[in-house]
Amino acid sequence: MKIKIWGCRGSLPSPGPENMVYGGNTSCIQVVHKDTCIVLDGGSGIQRLGKYLEPEFSEVHILLTHLHIDHTMGLGFFQPLYDPKVNVHFWGPSSTFEPLVQRLRRYFSPPLFPVRMDELPTHPVIHELNNMEFSIGDIKITTSYICHPGPTLGYRLDDGESVFTYLPDHEPELGSSSFPYDPEWTSGYDLARNADLLFHDGEYTAEEYKSRIGWGHSSIEAAIDFGKLCGVNKLGIFHHDPLNSDEKLEELFNNSMQAKKPQFNVELCREGAEYNLGGGE
Ligand SMILES: [Zn+2]
Ligand SMILES: [Zn+2]
Repeated sequence: MKIKIWGCRGSLPSPGPENMVYGGNTSCIQVVHKDTCIVLDGGSGIQRLGKYLEPEFSEVHILLTHLHIDHTMGLGFFQPLYDPKVNVHFWGPSSTFEPLVQRLRRYFSPPLFPVRMDELPTHPVIHELNNMEFSIGDIKITTSYICHPGPTLGYRLDDGESVFTYLPDHEPELGSSSFPYDPEWTSGYDLARNADLLFHDGEYTAEEYKSRIGWGHSSIEAAIDFGKLCGVNKLGIFHHDPLNSDEKLEELFNNSMQAKKPQFNVELCREGAEYNLGGGE
């Protein structure tokens, strides 16, 4: 299973010379296994993914964690949606108040976007998800709702050899008073348990988190605690604060690493980084 980061910035795209290392595009990850192409989230990073998408993929599955704008803003700019030779599938969380297709149509309609969903040359197939297991190609996917405002899913992808877990917007500290010591009551635990690679929200410092409880995000320290609780092999800190430059991110990351001294691999996610799980680095 090959994984490539096309965007790992949180909340708002943040291009600029001070953000050249970790990148400015919002959430978008490509997962490739044999002839299966899965895209996790449609943040601004999906535009470049579409531009460079290998022509052998005639089917693309876009799995949305939730519909916050930083995870959907790139969808209309994903070129394969305008190429009738490509079949595009949208997968995303069910909601009790409105079908997924209706919520996606809010984005694909004026005044937010000029092209309505029904006018797209490819007619994307919409799939609603909740706590469930299903497969795309040879990848077994487990989804469940996690702690973040509005219906939000986390994803666990298992190709039989390796497990990749994606929890870009997640506040596990909120759900359990005994965090990080009670796996049974910790949001996202079953998705991330023993994962080879976990991308997890680490937008704040521990100090910033104190005044942002309930906003749906984690500190880098809490992400490390969560990774330790779940026994992951490698943790990538994701959803970088749009106001933090490369220099600032590294300073905050180093402080958190000194405070926590994790006994497993932890790094800052970086736009353009690639991982080859089960096939050597
Ligand atoms: Zn987000
Ligand atoms: Zn969000």
